[in-house]
Amino acid sequence: MKIGVLTSGGDAPGMNAAIRAAVRQADALGHEAWGIYRGYQGLLEGDLAPLPNRACANILQRGGTILQTARCPQFHDPAQRAIAAGHLKRAGIEALVVIGGDGSFRAAEVFQREQGVACAGIPGTIDNDLSGTERTLGFDTALNTAVEAIDRIRDTASSHGRLFLIEVMGRSSGMLAVHTAVACGAEAVLYPESPEDSYENLVSQLNANWLRGKRSSIVVVAEGDTVGRAVAVGERLKRDHDLDLRVVVLGHIQRGGSPTATDRIWGSRWGAEAVRRLDKGERGFYLGEVAGALVAQPLSRVLEAQPVPPGELGRLISVLAR
Ligand code: ADP
Repeated sequence: MKIGVLTSGGDAPGMNAAIRAAVRQADALGHEAWGIYRGYQGLLEGDLAPLPNRACANILQRGGTILQTARCPQFHDPAQRAIAAGHLKRAGIEALVVIGGDGSFRAAEVFQREQGVACAGIPGTIDNDLSGTERTLGFDTALNTAVEAIDRIRDTASSHGRLFLIEVMGRSSGMLAVHTAVACGAEAVLYPESPEDSYENLVSQLNANWLRGKRSSIVVVAEGDTVGRAVAVGERLKRDHDLDLRVVVLGHIQRGGSPTATDRIWGSRWGAEAVRRLDKGERGFYLGEVAGALVAQPLSRVLEAQPVPPGELGRLISVLAR
């Protein structure tokens, strides 16, 4: 069997580990792996080629994705998806390993249903916002990158007795923000799923900290749907309270860098498992981790379920910042 591998949506450290594992597991089972470049965009354009074992040498420790990635609005159009299926058919590719987030999985689900191409999903997004898995590739690396950056900012914040608002990624999910905030001992966190995510609440938290004698504070802000949210909150705080504050948007620094051992290990496990399951004739599933175990779910589950917001950790922050 020929098995195509693609990475789609936002890039995430650990994607290369999954590519490498899928390619080498395919080879071990007597299949041929093909690389599809730039996600669904490359699939539409027929940008695909055999991906031999040696092409995956020395990529395990590299961030990003050697297959590159893209967003591809045309893939929402069934006529375009039929063109994409034609490219696979001509190359003799019967199955796809899709490494990406929930959008990429939605695409795989509809593509399999319409075009009959067997699809397997591997969660790859730094946001960790997929239902049915407690882990996604890149989250652990992005978290550690953000923590390292904020530790540096903490030094200068405490030296000057300053307030820092630090924006982290996460689109509509507060996972990265909340985990980062706990790991950095942040004084407050703003994230979209929180009932306490309001300007007034933040002001009262900062006031309470001031009265307790804290002269510097770190506030982690999830970018939410609008990148630049920390800047907006900072302007308002300066206007209303004349505070000496600084805003840092960590931005794309969080996406890059060598994957942590954890992301490499899960990328390797999921890449190999996806191919083993395709080899057995399974289709229409995505892999994940629940309570430490590798699990598989039907791709259709992505259409139904909502990811769990990081509630308990979020509540811990105001207690520990006292
Ligand atoms: P992620 O996979 O990280 O969530 P996106 O939401 O941008 O990233 O999705 C990646 C790509 O998947 C999109 O650019 C598009 O090509 C495809 N896609 C997403 N949702 C759908 C859908 N409902 N139907 C078809 N294709 C989709």
